[in-house]
Amino acid sequence: MPGGVNSPVRAFKRVGGEPFFVEHASGCRLTDVDGNEYIDFVMSWGALMLGHAHPAITAAIIDATGRGTSYGAPCAAEVELAELVVELMPSIEMVRFVNSGTEATMSAVRLARGFTRRDFILKFSGCYHGHGDSFLVQAGSGVATLGLPDSPGVPADLARLTLTLPFNDVEGVRQLFDARSDQIACVIVEPVVGNAGFIPPVAEFLTELRTQTRAHGALLIFDEVMTGFRVALGGAQAHYDIAPDLTTLGKVIGGGLPVGAYGGSRTLMEQIAPAGPIYQAGTLSGNPLAMAAGLAQLRALQQSNPYSELDGRAARFIGDFLASAEEIGVPAWGGAIGGMMGFHFRSGPVITYEQASQADNAWFAQFHRGCLERGVFLPASPYEAMFISTAHTQTDLEFALTQMRAALQEAVS
Ligand code: PLP
Repeated sequence: MPGGVNSPVRAFKRVGGEPFFVEHASGCRLTDVDGNEYIDFVMSWGALMLGHAHPAITAAIIDATGRGTSYGAPCAAEVELAELVVELMPSIEMVRFVNSGTEATMSAVRLARGFTRRDFILKFSGCYHGHGDSFLVQAGSGVATLGLPDSPGVPADLARLTLTLPFNDVEGVRQLFDARSDQIACVIVEPVVGNAGFIPPVAEFLTELRTQTRAHGALLIFDEVMTGFRVALGGAQAHYDIAPDLTTLGKVIGGGLPVGAYGGSRTLMEQIAPAGPIYQAGTLSGNPLAMAAGLAQLRALQQSNPYSELDGRAARFIGDFLASAEEIGVPAWGGAIGGMMGFHFRSGPVITYEQASQADNAWFAQFHRGCLERGVFLPASPYEAMFISTAHTQTDLEFALTQMRAALQEAVS
């Protein structure tokens, strides 16, 4: 496997050292093949809201397995999960399941382009929307720039169709739409950024995106692969009370199995084959095990609605960590919404990727290693959000905080 892994961040390149290999996981803890135990703040990059090996999800998967692992024909679990997604996500009337967040964003952008008959898309620097060619485009530097590919293999002719602006650049969005009113098919945004560290939107940013897209005939896509069912039961769109045209989902919707989805109004979604002419398909899409796992997780979340409790716990945790950093003499800023949180080692507020990238991370690698040695698994990059689950108790969080404080003290001394 290239780099020994199947997804780059797992190789610990940013923090150095040897990545651990997981032997098993339960609740908020991972145990590696050497028997070391870690409190997990990665949670499969946000997918696990109920912790590892939750009994309801495990039982649902085992039950589904006994009835066959894949059919290549429709089954009831797809309909049940679709109904639940439509019930929970305010702007979704119809949904299509795929196998990853990347597939969801690629398909949603194809739908936006097909529906509007326009080619340009607008994204924001620091927002990650999976590894589709159109999204691997370098950020602009303050003004909208024609995109340049971020990765060899992305054709320049395609990358130039991706326009970029800084996240939270309200004025930039207005100016761009004035200049390219009839060219932009869609705006795609992480409504709360998790892929440049944690960056929440400023008050008027998302509403301005809604206003401008509507005024200029473009579609607004909320990429809720990370925020969906994580910041609130109805995702960021419920939290901020803004209805996008299209929503992309992943992570939590699969309960730890590979699922993505995209959805929106009936008018838009009926453009997708076989109802309409825009093609998208998948051999394993709507897989019965994945549907069962997703259903079990979403039903449990609907029943318990743990978001305000998680929000309080996460906010307290981050607040206490920031206070510790200040005591140690390290400038830091951060925040939390629902079960998603993060911090940057610089004074705040941090509202753009450009600001996040100016944080002092010279010793982050040592801090990360110190946390691991003390039994705390943080994302192996300062540009990733952290996640908690309903399995993270107050005692677990207090233990983690003590260890992180000690690791920070050691890293900067
Ligand atoms: N969109 C967002 C906001 C993400 O955070 C991610 C993954 O981290 C993706 C899309 C891509 O999802 P996947 O890794 O399932 O392809």
